[in-house]
Amino acid sequence: MMAISRRTFIQAGSAAAGATVLGVGPATQWFGLTPDVVHNPGTEGVKVVPSFCELCFWKCGILAHVNGEGRVTKIEGNPAHPLSQGKLCPRGTGGTGLLYDPDRLRQPLVRVERKGQQVFEPVSWEAALDKVAEGMQRIKQRHGAEAFALFKHGYGGDWFKRLMKAYGTPNITHPSYAQCRGSRQTAFELTFGNGVGSPEVTDIENARVLTLIGSHLGENMHNTQVQEFARAIERGAQIVAVDPRFSTAAGKARYWLPIKPGTDTALLLAWMHVILEEGLYDAAYLEQHALGLDKLKAHVADKTPGWAYTHTGIPTQTIVETARFVASGRPASLIHPGRRTAWYGTDTQRGRAIAIMNALMGNWGRKGGFFMPNSMGVAKFTGEPAYPEHKHAADMPKGVVYPFAGSVLSHGLRDASIPGHAEYDIKGWMVYGTNLLQALPDQNKTLEALKNLEFSVAIDVLPAEITGWVDVVLPEATYLERYDDLHTPGWRQGFAALRQPVVPPMYESKPGWWIAKEIGKRLGLDAYFPFDSAEDYIQQRLAKDGRSLADFAETGVLLDKASPCYIEDGLAPVFGTPSGKIELYSQQMADAGLAPLPDYEPPDEPPAGHFRLLFGRAPTQTFGRTVNNRFLGEVMDTNVLWMNVRTAKEQGLKHGQQVMLVNQDGAKTGPIAIKATQRIRPDCVYMVHGYGQRAKGLKFTHGKGASDSAMVTRSSIDPAMGGTGMNNNFVRVERLEAV
Ligand code: SF4
Repeated sequence: MMAISRRTFIQAGSAAAGATVLGVGPATQWFGLTPDVVHNPGTEGVKVVPSFCELCFWKCGILAHVNGEGRVTKIEGNPAHPLSQGKLCPRGTGGTGLLYDPDRLRQPLVRVERKGQQVFEPVSWEAALDKVAEGMQRIKQRHGAEAFALFKHGYGGDWFKRLMKAYGTPNITHPSYAQCRGSRQTAFELTFGNGVGSPEVTDIENARVLTLIGSHLGENMHNTQVQEFARAIERGAQIVAVDPRFSTAAGKARYWLPIKPGTDTALLLAWMHVILEEGLYDAAYLEQHALGLDKLKAHVADKTPGWAYTHTGIPTQTIVETARFVASGRPASLIHPGRRTAWYGTDTQRGRAIAIMNALMGNWGRKGGFFMPNSMGVAKFTGEPAYPEHKHAADMPKGVVYPFAGSVLSHGLRDASIPGHAEYDIKGWMVYGTNLLQALPDQNKTLEALKNLEFSVAIDVLPAEITGWVDVVLPEATYLERYDDLHTPGWRQGFAALRQPVVPPMYESKPGWWIAKEIGKRLGLDAYFPFDSAEDYIQQRLAKDGRSLADFAETGVLLDKASPCYIEDGLAPVFGTPSGKIELYSQQMADAGLAPLPDYEPPDEPPAGHFRLLFGRAPTQTFGRTVNNRFLGEVMDTNVLWMNVRTAKEQGLKHGQQVMLVNQDGAKTGPIAIKATQRIRPDCVYMVHGYGQRAKGLKFTHGKGASDSAMVTRSSIDPAMGGTGMNNNFVRVERLEAV
């Protein structure tokens, strides 16, 4: 079958008669979602199954209770799992809201033309998989395997990575690099020769002073970090919160510095100035482990607190006082590296400044700083042939190199899908678990790319907007219905955790490993899938060390022996930089023609009448994928626009008033209510990410709140690693109703 030439968006609810739209089906009656009060049916399961969560990327251990009718009634934290320690964040406990979401994709769908209109038609798995294999094969024959790209997010994505490697493309990407944490990873690798990983190796539990630069822990729910944060505060740890917004964490802080957005590097350089001038750094540690102290001293000599005041708006004396305070906790003084650090395009330099501040505290490898992780040594899977050779990735524009890009850039592959942008064009996409219309900046460009593709397929659980643009939609089983590979991250104590089905897949959904293997079979790539099932895959790994799946039967987790993870335990830190030392001055950056010590670049100023748009997380929401969850929606089903109360008054706006946002390029949001508050600076506004979904198939969340992503039409590229700074967008506020 030939590809459909001009792909259009198929909005759920608008398909022609006889065709099926995404996620349709009779309304399901299920506990907690009916409008009537439901008597507590009891939530203790007759069966309790350990697994791990996928409502975000943290992968906490869960215990899922299943009642006698095979229904999951409750999800709790697994006490045996080091990341959950018996507790979950609100999203994790709401996992049944995803499992029983009545809007779920239920069967494979294929785009067809009926009476001149494009619609999705439900087809058998056989037909859908054949269509995918046919599309991929066609692209390979016409343009080479490299012309096909995989965008992925979530743990199950690795099955498709295997498929793509076997198929022969290097164009495998995840937006969580360039659009999220890539710059801080690069900055720490340049400085310490080690990234901070995921989960981060931050020893919040033992910190005496914890400094948060825009990290809103407690709203941004990384379960283990938040538990450690709470315990640290209970123990008397002190918090310094640097944030234009009085975050929940700022409410617990000794100091809240309401910094002008985009000026954090100026503050960090001034802190270094004070700490170096007053000799408050860990001289013995730096003497032993670091290079470039003299150059750093010279670099920050003129970065005085008075200079920083003019940029940051933080009073000079406060900068001096907080520099001394931060240093007073060393070595247990931790400046948090952050998570989504794609802010201004100068993010590697800000990340370097944070890394250098930590180095001055002498905290890498020390209690209350960054611990040195241990991993459980589970043997790798082997048995597949060597993967084919291929050209390099197409993720950078012609003639451009981002020298420290540690991963393929998602926006780069998107741009390469618009003919002529890159060295060669991308012609086909596989999109796993990521709504690229929200994950990438500049939605119009993403749409342009989608329209230029010869073939595309999405594998997902819910009918997110991206599924309306592809040629084939494959419904995946949720994390509660499938096996995935073992999770063996670096942590204080090494461990391996098992994801296993709690209940069988609902509807016609299938686990990702099966989908990838079946596509592989159709492409003649069976040899790269030498396992019968994910269970068999895991079993083959475990068997090499004399272990078996049965070892997970009791708790779902295998713990390695306790191992030291601090210098205080007698461990020597290993720095993976070229010099083997902490590189305060980065020769690598200098060699690449970039500033070897962090420079401060002032951010763009908002045009008159505009505010800088900031966005973040709420405890019940992570991404677009959580906003359709009816359970989580009970707590927060829409976002609001934080605006300084004085500014709101000046604009004639009242608390609760409906407005819409128009950005500097004329892009508009749907309605959003004003939250007039003193908890934010007057020059910016703030909203929680993920709302404003346009896909009608997401029936619960459609029409609720406004999309921050729609406002991110502009991004500034980080010259070191190619990340997209997205906090450079400005909005004006238009009234929708009088109050
Ligand atoms: Fe799940 Fe919350 Fe843990 Fe993320 S932090 S894995 S959502 S419980």
